[in-house]
Amino acid sequence: MKQETICVQGGWQPKNGEPRVLPIYQSTTFKYESSEAMADLFDLKTEGYFYSRLQNPTNDAVAAKITALEGGIAGMLTSSGQAANFYAVFNICEAGDHLVCTKEIYGGTYNLYGTTLPKLGIECTMISENDSEEEIDKAFRPNTKCLMAETISNPSCNVLDIAKMARIAHKHGVPLIVDNTFATPINCRPFEFGADIVTHSTTKYMEGHATTIGGAIVDSGNFDWDFYGEKFKGLTRPDPSYHGLTYTKSFGKKAYITKATVQLMRDLGSIPSPQNSFLLNLGLETLHLRVQRHCENAQKIAEWLQANEEVTWIHYSGLPTDPYHELAQKQFRDGMSCGVMCFGIKGGRERAIRFMNSLKLIAIVTHVADARSCILHPASHTHRQMTDEQLMKAGVQPDLMRLSIGIENADDLIADLDQALKAK
Ligand SMILES: *Cc1c(COP(=O)(O)O)cnc(C)c1O
Repeated sequence: MKQETICVQGGWQPKNGEPRVLPIYQSTTFKYESSEAMADLFDLKTEGYFYSRLQNPTNDAVAAKITALEGGIAGMLTSSGQAANFYAVFNICEAGDHLVCTKEIYGGTYNLYGTTLPKLGIECTMISENDSEEEIDKAFRPNTKCLMAETISNPSCNVLDIAKMARIAHKHGVPLIVDNTFATPINCRPFEFGADIVTHSTTKYMEGHATTIGGAIVDSGNFDWDFYGEKFKGLTRPDPSYHGLTYTKSFGKKAYITKATVQLMRDLGSIPSPQNSFLLNLGLETLHLRVQRHCENAQKIAEWLQANEEVTWIHYSGLPTDPYHELAQKQFRDGMSCGVMCFGIKGGRERAIRFMNSLKLIAIVTHVADARSCILHPASHTHRQMTDEQLMKAGVQPDLMRLSIGIENADDLIADLDQALKAK
């Protein structure tokens, strides 16, 4: 099936007489006829549902759709993108381990890996995705367990060279994990460029309507855990909390997702509610249409902004002048990235604030990548405690505004930007 068909019909496959639309299995528990049947489920001898903290049929149908969209072998949903990025790493890292991560990643992930994981004894070295291969090589240690990056970084809108990063990760015998939130599998399928595991904040384009927080992890099934068995003992050695079961032996290519489900989700419990997964699925049914419109609108608006003399700089890979334009053409469907762009205007911080306060359709919100257009000024909002100097060090220009273009009419949005740029 092509992406458009998977969006509409993937995941839930109703049998004779079953509901055409994915049902919400709003049940914590599932009934069995015998004690033995339940025991086999607990031993992971048979597949089935017993408690919604581990698995739920509504969630699984949506996970199957996202797995198909990414071209993976197994996938799972989490209650947020944060939980997805935590589980993806914690599934293969423990105290004493180390990971390498690009510093351009989303601020929430930066804090999670840079501040919270070290409290659990997992160290993180931040590199830049623009560093040379030799520089990135130097960040790896014998105890490094993965390399992590974003397809399109939030908020700086850089485009990752996935093939280069995969080559580096594999040279050091570790998987490449890619957060594909901004590109979505409609515009980019990181597995095709060598990534091993993909994560998502489904809160953004996938759900698409700013109603539901959620996340997902998908495994390509391509990383050979057994080949590096000494390094990934959690997958390749018996798990005492499952009567000595070994994930790679019992579940083959599905070992990584099975472990994350039956061990991490069992113990840490960040499952989405079936109601939220139902809403996510509704969003996914139109993902292909919305992403295309987001990109068409963003392209028009980026071109308009670039031509406006009040605009001092703009960063959007759809513009031929952008440093990431060529890479976007190579990696993205029809060269389209997403609806998010960054730009600055004359007059610095104060003018940026006046400009944003004058916008009428485009709202100031701490969100991005949904149907409604919105804008954020990190220097005034998410990073407001920092001086201009500190901002520059963190790679955020003081005048940077992150504009997320929705699926409204592009001319209406341009008219809004135009009147706000003229505001005195
Ligand atoms: C928003 C976001 C996250 C965090 O996801 P939540 O659903 O808000 O927990 C992770 N990565 C990226 C790229 C994001 O944009």
